[in-house]
This record gives sequence, C-alpha cells and structure tokens, in this order.
Amino acid sequence: MKLNETLLSTLDEYANILTLTDEEIGDEHISTSVDTPLRPDAFELTDEEKKARIEHHFREIMHTLGLDLTDDSLRGTPKRVAKMYVEEIFSGLNPANRPEIALFDNKYQYNGMLVEKNISFYSNCEHHFVPIIGKAHVAYISNGKVIGLSKLNRIVQYFAKRPQVQERLTVQIAQELRRVLGTDNVAVLIDAKHLCVSSRGIKDETSSTVTSFFGGKFEKDNVKQEFLRSIAL
Ligand SMILES: [Zn+2]
Repeated sequence: MKLNETLLSTLDEYANILTLTDEEIGDEHISTSVDTPLRPDAFELTDEEKKARIEHHFREIMHTLGLDLTDDSLRGTPKRVAKMYVEEIFSGLNPANRPEIALFDNKYQYNGMLVEKNISFYSNCEHHFVPIIGKAHVAYISNGKVIGLSKLNRIVQYFAKRPQVQERLTVQIAQELRRVLGTDNVAVLIDAKHLCVSSRGIKDETSSTVTSFFGGKFEKDNVKQEFLRSIAL
C-alpha cells in the first residue's frame, strides 16, 4: 500500500506540537478519564491503512535503533508488529469489535451472586507500551436477566486489548457489565503485574497491583465479603 506523504508530514507536525519534556511526561501512572482518550477521527482510517502506517513508522524506529532491516530475521517485523497492533493487542480500541451480548431470562430464578473468576488477560500499559498481565474476577447479581458465561470473558478481553491503565480497565469492565446486564449489582477485581514495573524502572518482580469496583448490592459489606471469599477459594 502506498502511504500518503502529505498526511504523514501532517502527522509529524502534530507530533512536534505534542512533544513533551521528560518532566512533563514523568513516570507516574496517572489516568485522566474513564473513557480511553481517543480522537473523534480515530476510525476514519481503515485497518489496512492503519497497518500500512504503523509498519512504516515501526520500520523507522527499528532503523533509528540501528537495526539492519535487510536481515532475514528482522525484515518482516514492522509488518508483523503493525498487524498485531491493529488485529490483536489493540483491537479493543475499535467499537466494531465490541462483543455482542445476548441476555437470557433468569429461568432458574437464581437470585444469588454469580462469580466468574481467574479470567486471564493480557493488556498493555499506555505509558510504556509493555504488557500488563493479570487476572480479572467479575461478579453480578441478576435483576432478571442472565448472560452467557463466556461473554464475561469477552468483555474483559475487549477492554484489555487497548493501551490501558489498570484503574480505567477496572471501571470500563464494570460500566459495560452494568450497561449490558441493566443492573448496578456488579463487582470487578483485577490483580495484575505490570512489566513496566518489573522489567524496567524500579524492577520489582514480586509486586502486583489490585484494583476493584463494587456497585449496588456489592457495596454492602456482607455481599462484598462473599465475593472476596469466592475469589479466594
Ligand atoms: Zn507503565
């Protein structure tokens, strides 16, 4: 695919305006909003156009690092990275990939808590673009509708496949559960390792980060404790 040079130079100008100093960037993990900060024109480019651009720019990064892109092992890397970004690890940016959720009537009249625990996920820290690896535990109390169990996993995966901060990931999952289930009675707890903490920077290999959201009935201490006991089993 031929790249549009005019657009690329516009992008370079845009990048210059947005260039921050090291002090402005910092090394803190501060989340600014519940919504992933996307531009209004985020999906004007097709996936194919995005892949072509990312391939071009990733090749530049590798070239700048001094890597020999004629080497057989490296030649295909820019294209592989571009495909992986758009189709896999950042596919959750695109609302077209949001999982379709079908609800069912709660025919069993099961009024207890449903907990889906140990949902493994891989995400990426939006400050360093290195992996966040963790487990999500989600729960809800039905208000008359139930959801297929695998859909709970799919909701977690959709929001994980974005550049993320763990706090936002937690709230985005909770809000989606509230929206699709039509109830405030949802809980989300995430326990994750951040490779930007373990493999670089402070290099702490043992710490993990726990974030949680408790809505509706889960705000009550006995309900919260039941959820926490379930995921500890
Ligand atoms: Zn980070």
